[in-house]
Amino acid sequence: MISNFELFQRASRVIPGGVNSPVRAFKAVGGTPRFITRAKGAHFWDAEGQRYTDYIGSWGPMILGHGHPAVLEAVIKAAETGFSFGAPTEREIELVEEILKHVPSMQMVRLVSSGTEAAMSAIRLARGATGRSKIIKFEGCYHGHADALLVKAGSGLATFGNPTSAGVPPEVAQHTIVLEFNNIMQLEEAFSLHGKELACLMIEPIAGNMNFVRASAPFAKRCRELCTQYGALLVFDEVMTGFRVALGGAQSIMGINPDITVLGKVIGGGMPLAAFGGSVDVMSQLAPLGPVYQAGTLSGNPVATACGLATLQIISQPNFYTDLFVKTKQLITGLEQAAHHANIDFSTDAEGGMFGFFTMKELPQNYATVMTTDSPKFNKFFHGMLDRGHYFAPALYETGFVSSAHTEDDISATITAAVEVFKSL
Ligand SMILES: *Cc1c(COP(=O)(O)O)cnc(C)c1O
Repeated sequence: MISNFELFQRASRVIPGGVNSPVRAFKAVGGTPRFITRAKGAHFWDAEGQRYTDYIGSWGPMILGHGHPAVLEAVIKAAETGFSFGAPTEREIELVEEILKHVPSMQMVRLVSSGTEAAMSAIRLARGATGRSKIIKFEGCYHGHADALLVKAGSGLATFGNPTSAGVPPEVAQHTIVLEFNNIMQLEEAFSLHGKELACLMIEPIAGNMNFVRASAPFAKRCRELCTQYGALLVFDEVMTGFRVALGGAQSIMGINPDITVLGKVIGGGMPLAAFGGSVDVMSQLAPLGPVYQAGTLSGNPVATACGLATLQIISQPNFYTDLFVKTKQLITGLEQAAHHANIDFSTDAEGGMFGFFTMKELPQNYATVMTTDSPKFNKFFHGMLDRGHYFAPALYETGFVSSAHTEDDISATITAAVEVFKSL
């Protein structure tokens, strides 16, 4: 049997860092990434035959677990009739209609292949629709790896952002204003300084890329009010939260209508598929109707749309999210009790099939506070759980996911392991 380590060495010779997306490399937690050979339901197996209970769900998409029979059947059937045509199909309409049914802030949707592409296109659309260049984003929110979004805060509010990646020209980053999440005063100041030059404000309404941090109700409300007042578009990046925290996404929980919504992950059910949408007015700015160019060879791919559609049809059945949350709640309550039992500070939050936890007394409200988490402790927790066959996200600033395939027994076993691991910390 070939080991994970051998595979990682072989991968590292031909793929930068041995992985095709950085966080898979375990750099934050140390150790050898597991090479996955197959998955079924709430579990996957690595090259050495070790089974794991999966709490990353491919970083969000696998809300039904792996290999759900109805989804599998839809995918196989679609593949048999063709992989890609470069011409429209009825299934694209069906998927978009299904999305629109549940997210009333949108009237039209454009399908793309990744969340990065969707967020990048949403920014271009906002700029094209408003004729303005500047955008606001928040520290700790991730919107994919487009140049304008790989930016951290500059030295002050009057200055613009600095690139967080080599290869991003400072001139590009200069149009991005980066603010602290949940800081209303800073938000108001930024709007009074730059409001009239702002194309949009982009936010994860529940941030899932700094573990799990909700935008507070007053903060989210102020984002909406200020965008309306200054004529900037409010963009909710719901790539992670869309169809994951609720059928209507985080916006349905918060009761806020964004101007543009960005979706991905769950809407593709594990296939490369993402989307962005808004009102007819805004979306009509897109080519071929309008002047904002956007295109894609594989956009609305027939196999991906079949996978997404079958997934959405199942998760839109009554009680799906209530049942899912029972499982999520079982997990986070169990983890909390296990931590407290071992006298470890612990706070946790969850919505639908998405959860976060921190080894600190109170839930953090922004990125700077998230970053004060005891990371050696988290890394020990991660490896302790991994050794016992429970796969959590390999970095403390990532959120976790529960699927409908997780059983009460799966979760109980995870909690039993957590009791042991917390005691050893
Ligand atoms: C995952 C994610 C993205 C990027 O999506 P990709 O498909 O990985 O390009 C963008 N925004 C948020 C909120 C995400 O969680």
